[in-house]
Amino acid sequence: MSQPDVDVTVQPSGTGCVDCDATGGWWFHLRRCAACGHIGCCDSSLSKHATAHATSSGHPVITSFEPGEDWFFDYRTERMTDGPALAAPDCHPVDQSTPGPASRVPADWEAQLEARHHIRAAASSFPSAPGASTSHSTVPESGIDRRTTR
Ligand SMILES: [Zn+2]
Ligand SMILES: [Zn+2]
Repeated sequence: MSQPDVDVTVQPSGTGCVDCDATGGWWFHLRRCAACGHIGCCDSSLSKHATAHATSSGHPVITSFEPGEDWFFDYRTERMTDGPALAAPDCHPVDQSTPGPASRVPADWEAQLEARHHIRAAASSFPSAPGASTSHSTVPESGIDRRTTR
């Protein structure tokens, strides 16, 4: 309730997307909720957990959790913004793969991301793509096994 939009004392929830870790998914880039430290995947990831978290929690500000990036983004204005230094660490471990986690990234990850973006761009009249908008998203767990079949 009285939680500030940006809380510099809150540590990140971990080194990977909380929701992808819970569902066996994988992410492209990571974002950190500036209010509660939730680590979620970016809008270029299949599941967009950072935005899903902002929507469900009402926490309006995220910052990058990528090494070397220090921008903030405010969902209310949909603009990049500045923010204070948050509790360390300010990015995932540099030896962590992008996309990640390495153990779950499918061999055709680029094709999967491209396909998703093309579907979204080409078919705005479609109902939202499976898993695009809810936290019950069907993350492609089969991607783990599919790496050898494509
Ligand atoms: Zn995620
Ligand atoms: Zn949050």
